[in-house]
Amino acid sequence: MNNLDSDLPTPVILTELEKGVIEEIKEHGGENIDRCIQCGKCAGSCPVALAGFLWFNKRFIHALTLGIKEEILDIPSPWACVSCNKCTEICPRDVKPFEVVFALRRVLVEELAMPTLTMEGLRTLYEYGHAVYQTTYPETRKKVGLPEKPPTTLAYPEALEELRALLRETKLGEIGLIPME
Ligand code: SF4
Ligand code: SF4
Repeated sequence: MNNLDSDLPTPVILTELEKGVIEEIKEHGGENIDRCIQCGKCAGSCPVALAGFLWFNKRFIHALTLGIKEEILDIPSPWACVSCNKCTEICPRDVKPFEVVFALRRVLVEELAMPTLTMEGLRTLYEYGHAVYQTTYPETRKKVGLPEKPPTTLAYPEALEELRALLRETKLGEIGLIPME
């Protein structure tokens, strides 16, 4: 080994299981994850990072490319992503960090590793066509002179049926979050 070789970092050899994590993210929409060079530009533009969350796009990508998954299942910040897409616009390597974060979300959904509020939101979306809906809303709307139902899926049962059919095409039924029929 010459002096130059000794200055090089030790290569990380991933196990098959760890490589499987990267493949799983790719299959769920984060195809370019292994193009990341950890330059940090995505983190510098990310509202999640700027809000002080300890975990954000760059760190998730780093962990996932090292095959780390179980340890990050309970971290809530993938759900804090506001889909601004700034990270994807700024990334010099076309990693599309936003897509990686959403791929991670899809994996988390399959593992049922999502915040209770998110689960409730998905059930409410299926039931009413709105992720946020309270049964007291019609009464409140009436009190302020509005029609009980706003002109959304609430007022159009056929649109709600279409939405439900779309949701049934997703994994949500398979994992028991929404009824299959
Ligand atoms: S900007 Fe792109 S290359 Fe740089 S750390 Fe983020 S994902 Fe990786
Ligand atoms: S899309 Fe999500 S991960 Fe990307 S910068 Fe916006 S909040 Fe951050």
